[in-house]
Amino acid sequence: MKNKKILIVVAHPDDIEFRYAGSVAKWIHDQNEVEYCIATSGEKGFNSNGKEILSCEKRQEIRESEQISAAEVVGVKRIHFLKFPDGELENNAFLRKEIVKLIRIFKPQIVVSGDPSMNSYDSFPGYHSDHLAIAAAVFESLYPACGNENFFPELISEEKLMPFTPKLAMFGNSQNADTWTDIEDFFEIKMKALACHKSQIEDIQEIIPRIMERSKEYGKQAGLNFAESFRTLELP
Ligand SMILES: [Zn+2]
Repeated sequence: MKNKKILIVVAHPDDIEFRYAGSVAKWIHDQNEVEYCIATSGEKGFNSNGKEILSCEKRQEIRESEQISAAEVVGVKRIHFLKFPDGELENNAFLRKEIVKLIRIFKPQIVVSGDPSMNSYDSFPGYHSDHLAIAAAVFESLYPACGNENFFPELISEEKLMPFTPKLAMFGNSQNADTWTDIEDFFEIKMKALACHKSQIEDIQEIIPRIMERSKEYGKQAGLNFAESFRTLELP
């Protein structure tokens, strides 16, 4: 993949680092342009190592700055924080309008998000309600809203943002993956990006073996040592 514009949409700061940062590092290395959209700023996440009770405002500030540092590690220059309330994300027209707006501004060929078809409920974090909401909202923003002038016509009349449809959706962490990124050369940089989320991760060394194991599992499906996996779907 080369010379593509890729938009990644997630619920919280650190979602990209856990799931896609190896792919992002590779995509940037291969001269693609990547932008992040973070729907909430994770202000209800853990306190900084539980030492001190912080206000939601303070935590929001910390988490946004951690996300900015993590993006810098992999070379992503643009992050859009939508600032919806953490833990209360809903797949509604307010959220979809913001996603459609970003798609019409950036015009990415590829949009990456979670897989709305996941249904195993085999982990609590994987099925956090914000994760479910953002996956469904991205799916519905991609079709039919972003390419149809009758959805959010005010984006056209007020902001001159014409309808635009990306070519491909890539759903991460899917049970039905069909596409793998070889992240062997980018695993270390992924861990460096993840480690930026200091307020959420007390000891990165404890987490690395778990992520390594998962990357190996995904890799096995494609004959790779370390991978991140996606289910792809072409837009009509
Ligand atoms: Zn999350």
